[in-house]
Amino acid sequence: MSKKRFWHQGLKFQCHQCGNCCTFPGGFVYGSEKEFRKIAKHLGLPFEEFLEQYTESIDGYVSLKSPDNGPCILYDNGCSVYPVRPSQCRTFPFWSDILKSPDRWDEQAETCRGIDKGKFWSKKEIKTQLDANTKNPMKAEPSP
Ligand code: SF4
Ligand code: SF4
Repeated sequence: MSKKRFWHQGLKFQCHQCGNCCTFPGGFVYGSEKEFRKIAKHLGLPFEEFLEQYTESIDGYVSLKSPDNGPCILYDNGCSVYPVRPSQCRTFPFWSDILKSPDRWDEQAETCRGIDKGKFWSKKEIKTQLDANTKNPMKAEPSP
């Protein structure tokens, strides 16, 4: 039997397009190789060139860059690759790390205006979001 979690009763969330989750300092945006290949294709760039220009290694994984510790490199008054944004972005704020306690959820509400507002998400819908986040983030090549 699965353990009862606070979000099993459902949660409210509706994005208000404030952009905070794309512009918050110190962020990282991981993705699978397949997701990054889709973004490269969307930008019309060879994959290696995309990796060079748009990504960096954070804690051993490939992340989109956040130049000068600012917004995600793909943020331009909204997501410039919205149709192909990584699952990490698509599934926010329903991340396992955020859903692990009510305190973590409330903490996110301090920067995300959509938390506890608008649409009601059932346990099943939240679980679908949790499962949709990649379990296969692309590993960075070790430095030579
Ligand atoms: S911080 Fe929340 S409300 Fe703002 S853009 Fe991100 S998901 Fe939407
Ligand atoms: S890829 Fe798009 S949605 Fe994801 S952090 Fe960057 S700008 Fe935001």
